[in-house]
Amino acid sequence: MRRQAELLAALVNLAVPGLRQGAPYEAPTAAEVLSGFATHFTEPRRTALTDTEGAGEGLVELAADLHGALTAPGIAATATRLNTLIDRCHAHPYLTNDTGQPFHLHFHGTGGPVQAVGGELATALALVIDTLGEDRFGTCEAHACDRVYVDLTRNGARRYCGTACAARAKTAAYRARRGTR
Ligand SMILES: [Zn+2]
Repeated sequence: MRRQAELLAALVNLAVPGLRQGAPYEAPTAAEVLSGFATHFTEPRRTALTDTEGAGEGLVELAADLHGALTAPGIAATATRLNTLIDRCHAHPYLTNDTGQPFHLHFHGTGGPVQAVGGELATALALVIDTLGEDRFGTCEAHACDRVYVDLTRNGARRYCGTACAARAKTAAYRARRGTR
């Protein structure tokens, strides 16, 4: 689940435009999203993704759908969007011992490599909500940043997209206290 949660944030933060660490973020082209995101996978999944016609556009669309689920107004709306995505990707659980690891559960969607990723990531977020709670994801609270995160920490107190924004927010709070802003 940790890897899928990281993949989900990586895809959304790569493909969805907005703000990143204090500056405007312009999303790359679909081809660049594909080549960038594919690096997170090993063979044969990497080539299956990069060799699929329209996979870049599919990933951009998937990123927008996942972003919509992550930023929906309320947990019920998030759940509805995730259920729709899981259904559309035809995700189903199955046990596998691929990559030489012990048997573990996969939730790949069926229909193609993009659906496989979509089913996997949407189900992962659904599992996070199921096992950890309804407040384990969000957008970065640092100034001028709207990148998303999924919070798998023990205490569930994550508020920033990464260490850079956590440091920025800490500095801003310090300056505000000192009145030197
Ligand atoms: Zn941030």
